Amino acid sequence: MYNEGEKILVILSSPSGVGKTTLTKKIQQKYNNFKISVSHTTRQPRSNEVNGVDYYFVSVEEFQKLIAKNSFYEYAKIYENYYGTLKENVDQTLKQNDIIFDIDWQGTKQLSKFKKLKLVKIYLITHSKEELKKRLLSRDENTPKEIQKRFNSFDEDIKHWNDYDFIIINKNLEVCFKQIENIIENFKKKTSIYPQKFL
Ligand code: 5GP
Repeated sequence: MYNEGEKILVILSSPSGVGKTTLTKKIQQKYNNFKISVSHTTRQPRSNEVNGVDYYFVSVEEFQKLIAKNSFYEYAKIYENYYGTLKENVDQTLKQNDIIFDIDWQGTKQLSKFKKLKLVKIYLITHSKEELKKRLLSRDENTPKEIQKRFNSFDEDIKHWNDYDFIIINKNLEVCFKQIENIIENFKKKTSIYPQKFL
């Protein structure tokens, strides 16, 4: 049950390369009330990434200490690196803002266990695998080995679409953005259509 005025947590998940990061940023730019959840990761920063903005880049030892202290709402090992969402950061942000998450299906499953969190779970997908490969290749930040790893994980990733409230096929970024806006606005107006709906 959603009560008016409550802060919401929008999760966007997708196989790598579907456009999730761009969409997350677009939502935050348009809606000042949304903050992007900044995850901790043990992955190396890419050349365009800033510590504390894109991720908190930490060592494996630091990450494991945080796991031991039960500091994460969720964490997962993806492509041999850890990624996780700190409880403290989420709880602090929720006092004032809605939050948007760019996390994978494993994290989504774990967050779903916290019934106090008002989650809106959206899964994005491309219309074809070929399109996905094109997008991955057009990003120049990944090595060929990483691109292949990400492409190979597509089949495993999409098996989990059923854990989400909405599935959006991203053929056109603007259309996709509008669909996400509609979902958020409907949810806030308590008119969201459940269960699951293909858009
Ligand atoms: P990338 O290395 O391309 O930034 O992210 C790889 C994957 O990790 C993406 O699917 C992204 O959604 C996911 N991811 C990023 N942060 C988190 C997190 O805090 N938790 C989980 N479970 N996945 C995350």
